[in-house]
Parts: sequence; C-alpha cells; structure tokens
Amino acid sequence: MITIPFSKLQSAATLKAPGYYDACIAAGTVVGDNLELSESAFAALRAQFSPPPLISQIKSASGAIVAECGAALSGEAAVDDSTNAARITTCEACEYFIMADRRCQKCGCWMELKAGFRTGTCPVGNWS
Ligand code: SF4
Repeated sequence: MITIPFSKLQSAATLKAPGYYDACIAAGTVVGDNLELSESAFAALRAQFSPPPLISQIKSASGAIVAECGAALSGEAAVDDSTNAARITTCEACEYFIMADRRCQKCGCWMELKAGFRTGTCPVGNWS
C-alpha cells in the first residue's frame, strides 16, 4: 500500500494532465489527510499520466526537427499566427495538456514549440 498525503498529491497534480487528481481519488481510499493506493493502482496511474519514455521522446523530437527543417528547406510556408494560436487553444482544452510546463502528455512535446512546426501534428488528431 502506498500512502500519499493530500498536500503532496495536490502538488503532484499540478505537474500532470487534468484528471490526475480525480483519477487518484477514484482509485484509492481516503484515510484522514492521506490517500492510500495499492501498488498496482499507483503503477497504473503513473503509466496513464506519464509522458512516453525518454528514448521515445528523443526519437520523436529528432524526427520532428528533421521533418521541420526539410519542410522549411523545401519552401513550405511557415505556420501562421492564427493556426499557431488555434493549436495552442486546442491543447489548453485537452485532457492530455500539462498546464504547468505546457507540455503534451501523449507525445511529451512542449507545445509552444511544436505548435509552430509546419509538420507538427497532434498525436490524437485534435488539431484540424
Ligand atoms: S498535441 Fe493533441 S493530445 Fe497533445 S495536448 Fe495538444 S491537443 Fe492534446
């Protein structure tokens, strides 16, 4: 059994996508000022609310940078301000958006950077 003080859980939730806190509460048992979670529930929550493994993020970022450079060199127009803003607005309303560091939980990318990429895509198809 893992015991997490609510103060620590609330602090951790600010670094996760929306829904983390409620999912923890739903998966555990409230005991006084703490939440108790089974180790399997804790592991499942960590898997559900963590970005991809670092090596996957590095591969993905490398591919995105190469694709973006290729698009720029081939003369593809830069992302205009309205498209960039629309992407950010979509991310800010998304269940996978980590507000604290403005990062996507699904791909691990920093959205202020990725939204400006010509070849940038949303991993779940939320960008039109
Ligand atoms: S890139 Fe897609 S999945 Fe990630 S935060 Fe933005 S809208 Fe959500």
